[in-house]
Amino acid sequence: MPPTAPSVPAVPPDAGSAAVQQRIAEVVRRYWGFDSLRPLQAEAIARAVNGEDWLLVMPTGGGKSLCYQAPPLVTGKLTVVVSPLIALMKDQVDSLALRDIPAAALHSGLTPEQAADTRRRLTAGELRLLFVAPERLLLPGTLSMLARIADSGPGVGGIAIDEAHCISQWGHDFRPEYRRLAELRSVLPGVPVFACTATATPRVRDDIVAQLSLRNRRVLVGPFDRPNLTYRFLPRAAGSASLGQIKSILARHAGQAAIIYCLSRDGAEALAEHLRNAGVNARPYHAGLEPTRRAKVQDQFKSGDLNVVTATVAFGMGIDRSDVRCVIHAGLPRSVEAYQQEAGRAGRDGLPAECVLLHSGSDVAKWTRLMERSAKEMGTPAAVTEAQTALLREMARLAGGFVCRHRALVEHFGQPFDGANCSACDICLGESQDVPDGQTIARKVLACVARFQQSGGHFGAGHLVDVLRGRATQKVTERGHHGLSTFGLLRTLERRDLSGYVDQLIDQGLLRRDDGEYPVLALTADGASVMKGERAAVLRRSVHVDAQTADRAATRAAGLVELAPAEQQLFEALRYLRSKLASERSIPAYMVFDDRTLRELSTLRPSTHDGLLAVRGIGERKAQQFGPAFLAELATRAAEFGLALDPSPPDAAPRRHDSASRKA
Ligand code: ADP
Repeated sequence: MPPTAPSVPAVPPDAGSAAVQQRIAEVVRRYWGFDSLRPLQAEAIARAVNGEDWLLVMPTGGGKSLCYQAPPLVTGKLTVVVSPLIALMKDQVDSLALRDIPAAALHSGLTPEQAADTRRRLTAGELRLLFVAPERLLLPGTLSMLARIADSGPGVGGIAIDEAHCISQWGHDFRPEYRRLAELRSVLPGVPVFACTATATPRVRDDIVAQLSLRNRRVLVGPFDRPNLTYRFLPRAAGSASLGQIKSILARHAGQAAIIYCLSRDGAEALAEHLRNAGVNARPYHAGLEPTRRAKVQDQFKSGDLNVVTATVAFGMGIDRSDVRCVIHAGLPRSVEAYQQEAGRAGRDGLPAECVLLHSGSDVAKWTRLMERSAKEMGTPAAVTEAQTALLREMARLAGGFVCRHRALVEHFGQPFDGANCSACDICLGESQDVPDGQTIARKVLACVARFQQSGGHFGAGHLVDVLRGRATQKVTERGHHGLSTFGLLRTLERRDLSGYVDQLIDQGLLRRDDGEYPVLALTADGASVMKGERAAVLRRSVHVDAQTADRAATRAAGLVELAPAEQQLFEALRYLRSKLASERSIPAYMVFDDRTLRELSTLRPSTHDGLLAVRGIGERKAQQFGPAFLAELATRAAEFGLALDPSPPDAAPRRHDSASRKA
C-alpha cells in the first residue's frame, strides 16, 4: 500500500515563528531520524515553507534532498521535483516510501494504470512529492493539471529543480530541455522555485538565477569541503603500469564499493576485463552497452551485489549508493565541476573514503579531440565549446598543482579554506616530495625541446625521452638527434620517471602538447622563462601511500571515533543483516540504513525501541519496520563479541553527531 498523506496537521506558512521551527524539527526527527539540521538546511527549509525562492549549492552528500523533501510535510502542500533521470526518481520515491512519505513519479516507464493512479492521488491531494522529468512537466496536460491543483485544496507549495546546473550553458552538463523550465513561472505564478545543484561556479549560479527569474536572487552556498574524503592527485604511470597503480589502490578497498572513471568506452571495457583476470569482480558501464546489460550493472551496483564498476561519465547520476569507499579517475575529468560531482559519489554516508585522480599530460589532448568531434556532430555553438575548453584547462591546472587538494577544490568554488594541513590529501600527508634537482631536470627537458625547434622540428614525448636518455633509436639516428648537445643529458633517469616529469611540465604550462595525428611538444613563453632562469619550475615525485594513516585522519576529520575490533565485528554482522532485509524487499541495502547508522548502532548498541530512535538516521517508520530485527541481532551478537548493550558515554560514540553541521 502506498503511503497516504501524513496525519499531522499543517501549519500556516510563517517560517519565522517558533511554532514553524519546531514543526520542521519534528518532521525531520520523525521521518528521517535526524536530531539537527545543517545550518543551510535549516535556512533553505524555513524559506521554502515561507514561500521564498532559492538556489542551493552544496556538494554531493551535503544534504540537499532534505531541503525540498521536508517542506511539503510541514505545509501539507505538494512539491513538484524536476529530476533528469527515471532511475533517480524511482530511488527517491522508494526511499521516501520507506519513511512513510507519500510520493510518486510520473515518467515514461509507468503503465497507463500506474500513471492514472498517480494522477488520481495527485488530484485527491494525497501526495506530498511528485517527481517528473522536465519534458513531461512542460507538456500542456501536466501543466494544466498542476495549475488546477495549485488553485484548489492544499495547493502546490513549490517546484524543486534538482541538478539545476543543467539549465546553464556555462555548466558542464547543459541540457537544453532545462531551459524551458522558466515557462513554469507564468503557468504557476506565485509558486516558489527551489533550485539545487552540487556544482556551480559563480557564473553558472548567476545564470541559474537569471534563467529561472528567482525572486530576491537568494543563493545559499554550503560548505564545499568534504572532510571525510582523502584526495590523491597522482601522475598516471605510463602504459600498462597504470593498471598496477589502479590495482594497488583497489587493494586498499577490498570488498568495498569502488567506481573507476575511464576516458573511453574501450578503456572501461579493457580495465574491467583486466581486473576480472586479476580476481576483482568488476563490470564496465558506458552508454554504448546494450540497455538491459547497462541497467543490470547499475542495479547490481546499487543493490550491493557488485562492488567495482569501471565506467565512463555516463555512470553516476542516479547512483545514490552511500557506501562507495573509493572513486578512481583513470584520466583527467573534463572539469573541476565534473570532478567534484564524480569524486563526490564517494563517502556520501560521511564515513572515510578515498578519491584518486590519475592524470597524464596526454589527457587534455584526448578530451579536446572528443569535444571537437562531438561539437561537430551535435552542432554545438562555438561559445559552448570554448567554455568547455576553459573548464578542462582549469582542471588540468588543478590536477598538476601542488597545493593541498582540499584547499584547491574549495577555493575553486570561491570559498576560503581554514587550516594549514587537511591531513587528508597526498600533499598534506607528505606522500609526494619535490625532486631535489627538479629545476635542473626541467631546464634540460625544456632545452631539448628548444633544440628540436631550432633544428626545425617538433616531436612527441616518447622521442624527447629517448634523446634525453641517450637512446640511439632508429628515429634518433635518422634525425641526427644523437648529435644534439642534449643527447643523453638525463641518461640516469628511469624512462617512467622522465615521462612523468614531461607530463608535469605540460601540466604547469611550460610545454604545450599540440594536438594532431601525432601529438608533438612545443616550448611555451613560460617554459622559455624557466630556461632563462627568470622563473622556477618544480618537479614532484610520489614517495609512499600510507592508506591507514590517511584513513585515520579522514575518520577524525569526519568527526567519527574509530571502531574497536569487536565493534567492527558487530558492524559486519549488522551489514549482513541489512543485506538480508534489503534483498527480501528488493531494495538497495543503503535504503534500509546507511553505513553511518550501522556504525552508530555498533557503538551505541541500543536495547530498546526508544534507544533505536536516538540513533542518527532512524525515524519512526524505519524503527517499526526494521527495529525488531536489529534489536535481536544486537542482543545476540553483542553478547557473542563480549560487548555490553547500552554502554554509557564516554565508551559510546557521541550521540547522533553530524560532522557536516559541525564543519558548516
Ligand atoms: P545530496 O542530495 O546533497 O547529495 P543527500 O540528501 O543524499 O545529499 O544527503 C547526504 C547524506 O547526509 C545522507 O546520508 C543523509 O542521510 C545525510 N543527512 C542529510 N541531512 C542530515 C542531517 N541533518 N543530519 C544527519 N545526516 C544528514
